[in-house]
Amino acid sequence: TAPIITISNVWKYFGSLPALQDVSLDIAPGERVVIIGPSGSGKSTLLRSINRLEEIDQGSIIVKGENIMSPDNDINLIRQNLGMVFQQFNLFPHKTVLENLTMAPITLRKLTREEAESRALGLLKKVGISEKANVYPAMLSGGQQQRVAIARALAMQPAIMLFDEPTSALDPEMVGEVLDVMVKLAEEGMTMVCVTHEMGFARTVADRLIFMDQGQIVEQGRPETLFTTP
Ligand code: ADP
Ligand code: ADP
Repeated sequence: TAPIITISNVWKYFGSLPALQDVSLDIAPGERVVIIGPSGSGKSTLLRSINRLEEIDQGSIIVKGENIMSPDNDINLIRQNLGMVFQQFNLFPHKTVLENLTMAPITLRKLTREEAESRALGLLKKVGISEKANVYPAMLSGGQQQRVAIARALAMQPAIMLFDEPTSALDPEMVGEVLDVMVKLAEEGMTMVCVTHEMGFARTVADRLIFMDQGQIVEQGRPETLFTTP
C-alpha cells in the first residue's frame, strides 16, 4: 500500500542551525511510529513540520497524496487529516469540555450541534470522562485535560494522530491513564506518530521506533530488534 505520509529529504533551519538535516521517512496507513532521541535532536520539529506548524526549508512532505507546501493546496484542509496532541494540553479555557470538542466539527466540518454533541459524548466516554462534559478545563486534572485534548483531536475524525510528548507535563500518577487511551487508539488501527520518552509504550505499541540525533534519523526498526542488545 502507498504511504499515508511521505517525508523526503527535508531540511529545516532555525537561523543558521539545521534542526532537520535531510530527513526522509515513509509512514504506512495504520502504522504506529514512535520517535525518540535526546533533547534538541529535532523530534518536535519533525512532527510539527508534518502539519506545517513549522515551515520546512527544503524537501517535501506529502500527506494523503497532498504536498503540504504546495500553494495549490489548502493547509487547513490538509490539517483536517492530522490530529495533534501537545505536551501542554492547549484546551480552550473559556469553553466547557463539550464545547472544546464540538467547536471545530461545527465550524469546519459543518456538523449540526446535535451531531457534534453526540459524537463528542461518544468520544468522552471512550477516553473515560463522560461525567466532565459540562465543566471547564481548569476543573480537571492534567491527565483528564490531556484525555480531553485527545478526544478533541479525534472529534475531527483525522486519519493520522500526531503526539508531541503527550505525557511529559503530567504528574507521574496520571501518565498511565493517557497512555491507556493511546494504546486503545493503536489497537483500533489509528495511524500514529508519537514523540515520547515512555519506553514501555514504545516497546509494546510501536511498529517502528525511530532514533533521532542532531536533526537526523540515525537508527530505525522494530522495537524488539532495537531494544535487544547483541
Ligand atoms: P526535540 O523535540 O528533539 O527536543 P526540537 O525539534 O524541539 O528538538 O529542536 C531541535 C533544534 O531546533 C534545537 O536545537 C532547538 O533549540 C531548535 N529550535 C526548535 N524550535 C526553535 C525555534 N522556534 N527557534 C529557534 N530554534 C528552535
Ligand atoms: P519541545 O521539544 O517539546 O517542542 P521545547 O521546550 O524544545 O519543547 O520548545 C518549546 C517551544 O519553544 C517550541 O515552540 C519551540 O519551537 C520553541 N523553541 C525551542 N527551542 C528554541 C530556541 N532555541 N529558540 C527559540 N525557540 C525555541
